Amino acid sequence: MKKHNFSAGPSILTQEVLQKASEAVLNFNNDNLSILEISHRSPAFVAVMEKARSLVLELLDLENKGYSVLFLQGGASLQFLMTPYNLMKENGKAAYLDTGAWSSKAIKEAKLFGEVEVVASSKDKNYNYIPKNYTIPSAVDYIHCTSNNTIYGTQIKEFPKSDNVLVCDMSSDIFSRQLDFTQFDVIYAGAQKNMGPAGTTLAVVKESILGKTGRTIPSMLDYQVHISKDSMFNTPPVFAVYTSMLTLQWLKEKGGIAAIEKINNAKAELLYSEIDNNPLFKGVAEKEDRSNMNVTFVLTDDSLKDKFDSMCKEADISGINGHRSVGGYRASIYNALPLESVQVLVNVMKALK
Ligand SMILES: *Cc1c(COP(=O)(O)O)cnc(C)c1O
Repeated sequence: MKKHNFSAGPSILTQEVLQKASEAVLNFNNDNLSILEISHRSPAFVAVMEKARSLVLELLDLENKGYSVLFLQGGASLQFLMTPYNLMKENGKAAYLDTGAWSSKAIKEAKLFGEVEVVASSKDKNYNYIPKNYTIPSAVDYIHCTSNNTIYGTQIKEFPKSDNVLVCDMSSDIFSRQLDFTQFDVIYAGAQKNMGPAGTTLAVVKESILGKTGRTIPSMLDYQVHISKDSMFNTPPVFAVYTSMLTLQWLKEKGGIAAIEKINNAKAELLYSEIDNNPLFKGVAEKEDRSNMNVTFVLTDDSLKDKFDSMCKEADISGINGHRSVGGYRASIYNALPLESVQVLVNVMKALK
């Protein structure tokens, strides 16, 4: 029996996707070759890439709205520098929201390219809330935010409203909830949290914002180069793209983001209500800013730690240790995690004495 996998990333994939992916490793498309040993230019793989790109636009409701979909490498961490490289003018300026460790890493890279104004930060309380009522300066090249803070368990509910270009790191909550995705000009996400295995990074880019910086951008870091080659400028990470495509297909068959959001809300409600009603547990993030993907909590009585940990192990629960900078526990309840797994965790919490 498979464990209940609450890992923060790389994280759970559905059994159905794992089954199909493993079949393709042995024999892809009944062609008696592995997907790992055929050309990325072969019609069979080009079709996979095209399918993956079109599913992204379909699921985000961004079809025919001027967006291009790229499957890149280098993780979300490379996007921390690709975004300023492609969007910040020479001697330009960008505005950043500092809502956690990933945001601050993005800020560090952007500072290599120009001026960064941190418009708001929740660092004062170890990032356990989302700052509100901040003012965005008007003369910036773009605004950058992180929709879900994987480590602290907070999530932005209201995005910055302005006429500026808006860039969002959605690594840990892409495809998890309905949003008006047209409010963003660049969305990026490492695949390994809510979309697929490690090895590829999704970037959804509005083409009309590109080519305005006056910079010479190295080819591999230039969104326009990747767009002009349909995400095939160099050899793409074929297996990661294929497995992501399978997950996107699974999501579409399930009813898309609207359907998965309902399930995600039910999972989060079940777990948060146990945290709030059980005196042995306490949530880490401010209630109004709680994430529906990463649920952070602590024991109110540390002496119960060993007992709780062994009960979790007994119940085949895996991956709920908190990040070292927060401590306690973190249950990541991404799209692929079934409601039953959350119920198992809640039952263990109820049984703790
Ligand atoms: C995991 C994570 C990253 C880093 O992703 P890599 O693919 O490892 O570079 C960046 N941002 C957020 C919000 C994350 O959760």
